[in-house]
Amino acid sequence: MSKPVGSVDFALVCRLNGLKATHQRMEIYRELAESNEHPDAGTIYMRLRKKMPSLSFDTVYRTLRVFEEKGIVAPAGISKDAQRYDAKMYEHQHFVCVKCGLIRDVLCEAFCGLKAPDSISEIGETHSVRVEFRGVCEKCSEKRAKEKK
Ligand SMILES: [Zn+2]
Ligand SMILES: [Zn+2]
Repeated sequence: MSKPVGSVDFALVCRLNGLKATHQRMEIYRELAESNEHPDAGTIYMRLRKKMPSLSFDTVYRTLRVFEEKGIVAPAGISKDAQRYDAKMYEHQHFVCVKCGLIRDVLCEAFCGLKAPDSISEIGETHSVRVEFRGVCEKCSEKRAKEKK
């Protein structure tokens, strides 16, 4: 059985990218990889702070930027205040709630491997195609239904 790319050995990933697999990097990556919320740096910092009191927000922020540069994690969603990240590097789709900004993974074969139309080359070179489903999540629609009553 082949391992999904999302669960590859982090130490190996670091080595391949010329990064030292430090304890802090490992914890930051794990926190991101184990979350399905596509958290931003602040959220990851808050979660790790308890078990790693020496960790600073700045380190988390910079580490995620380095991971992104190296292609170890991907930016997820466009948030007004903070960049959010995704450790799943295999092709998948996102459901995005336009009310609360929730991002959940969706894997739908029909939307994988899509090609950009030729006309796009006039605008720029396409590196990847991502499908995003936008709508209102369960929680937000429940809230809205309650408010109407
Ligand atoms: Zn929502
Ligand atoms: Zn994702």
